[in-house]
Amino acid sequence: MRFDVITLFPELFAPFLSAGINRRAFETGAVELKLWQLRDYADGTYRRVDDRPFGGGPGMVMLAEPLEKCLQAIRHDRALKNPSEKPVPVVLFSPIGQPLNHAGVEEWSQSDGAILICGRYEGLDQRFIDAHVDVQVSLGDFVLSGGEIAAIALLDAVARLQPGVLNDEGSHQMDSFNPALDGLLDCGHFTRPEVWKDITVPPVLMSGHHAEITKWRRQQSLVLTQKYRPDLIVGARLAGKLSTQDENFLFSLGASGLVESKSN
Ligand code: SAH
Repeated sequence: MRFDVITLFPELFAPFLSAGINRRAFETGAVELKLWQLRDYADGTYRRVDDRPFGGGPGMVMLAEPLEKCLQAIRHDRALKNPSEKPVPVVLFSPIGQPLNHAGVEEWSQSDGAILICGRYEGLDQRFIDAHVDVQVSLGDFVLSGGEIAAIALLDAVARLQPGVLNDEGSHQMDSFNPALDGLLDCGHFTRPEVWKDITVPPVLMSGHHAEITKWRRQQSLVLTQKYRPDLIVGARLAGKLSTQDENFLFSLGASGLVESKSN
């Protein structure tokens, strides 16, 4: 899979590409990443990529022309390297988009990739967006100063889902939001020492009894999800992902006030 990123700050990506578990995804080429400096596609001595907004107001707007030239160069390069590839979508990071979620990340992680555009200033000339952008993706209901962090977030989440990137192949199966966990939140985790500041690890985890441990983890996921993201419980229920055992356990939480007492 190949992602091309249009950005005015390609240098922001370097530390992320060379550190942590994701490094393997980029070094092995499991996820190919090509950074495109937008300024290289701008004309004139000053290689201008922005201008003042028509109608007045603060800030600057990214010019359509360099963006289109850069996009054409990327399309050309992709077609040269992989002539049989269908054109990949153009993604713009923007507060307008749907917030990125696990389902979206999974889709991208099984795709041929995309062309990602990182906005800056007040954003892009709307005519370029209307002509070329297929999908807008947001990181959430807040405003970043540029799309680079959003692009890195998407690339990070996609890279860790590639086979062989995580040391333990199965480990993302049990991550929050994963369908294998029925879209619930992950349970809490514990490691050595067994007693830390007089607080002991839950005994079941030391029991070696795998069925009990699995049951306990499922219950912890239900407790945490009920407490922090009750909407995910509703979603799992509607999707038929909660067993009678799960429902009985959730009922017992409510009835015993366990959720309240745990949250205090
Ligand atoms: N004027 C715009 C904000 C521009 S911020 C508005 O009010 O909606 C500059 C750039 O940062 C945007 O073009 C976009 O690429 C990126 N950006 C800002 N907030 C974002 C978010 N929540 N998700 C994804 N990208 C974002």
